[in-house]
Amino acid sequence: MEYKNVLTTCPFCGTGCGFFLQVLDGKIVGVLPDKKHPVSQGSLCVKGWNAHGFIYHEDRLKSPLIRRNGKLVEASWDEAIELVATRLGEIKAKHGPDSIALLASAKATNEENYLFQKFGRAVIGTNNIDHCARL
Ligand code: SF4
Repeated sequence: MEYKNVLTTCPFCGTGCGFFLQVLDGKIVGVLPDKKHPVSQGSLCVKGWNAHGFIYHEDRLKSPLIRRNGKLVEASWDEAIELVATRLGEIKAKHGPDSIALLASAKATNEENYLFQKFGRAVIGTNNIDHCARL
């Protein structure tokens, strides 16, 4: 058996707690808090303690889904991005940029959320941007 702890950052909110993923024979089997981490100092909330739970879950989405004839079917990332870009362009052309709103996620990093709001303001041209942490 081969066991190792891999230091990483919790992906579930912007707090950025640190923990070790416990890896046994190449498979992630658990989480241990990092006592030396400057933010979390050995503490984790329930989401952090269970951060590995989704990795091998059978319901995990591993590719984008596009609704076709009323059913969600797997698609490539290129197809999904093309569809979203096309539809956003159509909505903006028909109803104006303020007909589009963006809701950012606490599961994304600060840097990703910064880019998200920049995309909304500079590319789409709307200030209709909010974040789930404010709700
Ligand atoms: S452990 Fe909890 S508080 Fe810390 S980053 Fe993860 S979700 Fe946020």
